[in-house]
Amino acid sequence: MKTTFTRTYEEEKEYKLSDLKPYEVDLLKRVIEICWEAREKGNHPFGCLLADEAGNILMEQGNEEVTEGGDCTCHAETALMRKATKKYTKEEMAHFTMYNCGDPCAMCAGAIYWGNLGRVVYIGRESELKKYTGDDLRNPTLDLPSRVVFASGQKKVEVLGPFLELEPELMKCHENYWHPSENFKG
Ligand SMILES: [Zn+2]
Repeated sequence: MKTTFTRTYEEEKEYKLSDLKPYEVDLLKRVIEICWEAREKGNHPFGCLLADEAGNILMEQGNEEVTEGGDCTCHAETALMRKATKKYTKEEMAHFTMYNCGDPCAMCAGAIYWGNLGRVVYIGRESELKKYTGDDLRNPTLDLPSRVVFASGQKKVEVLGPFLELEPELMKCHENYWHPSENFKG
C-alpha cells in the first residue's frame, strides 16, 4: 500500500452563529425546514439554498433522489448546482453562497467547484450524521471533507461550518429515518 495523496486544508472547527450576519442565521434555519420538506415528499432529509450577497434567496433545493427514481446525483447541493449554473454565469456564482445542512459530499463539492460557487455555509458534521445513518445504503456517509476537495483545486471556495448551535435541531430531521444494519459498529 502506498500513500501519495496529501492536501493542506483548514481543519473542521466549530463556528458560532455570532460569526454570521443575523439574516444568515435565518437562512440556515430555513435550510432545516427544507430538509423537513424533502422528507415529507418522500426524499432523504437533506436540503440547501442559494443566496446572493444581500441574503436574498435565489433558489431552494431539497434532496430528490427518491422522487427522481433513484437518481444518485439528486443530492440537494448537486441538484441545486445543476439548476443554478443554467441560470447564472460563473462570475455571478462566485458571489453567491450556498447555505447547506451538512458538509457537502465529494460529488456535491465537485459540482460546487465546477460551478464556481464562492462560498458554502453548513450546519452539521458528517460524523454526527453518521450516528443516524450508520451504513444504511441510502446514505453510507462519505468522510471526505469538502475542504479537502476544494484544496485540490486551483481556486478558493470559502467554507464555514459546522454550527453546532443549530446541529441538534438539524439532526431531528434524521430521527427514525435511517436503518443501519445490525452489524454496524459506528
Ligand atoms: Zn452530496
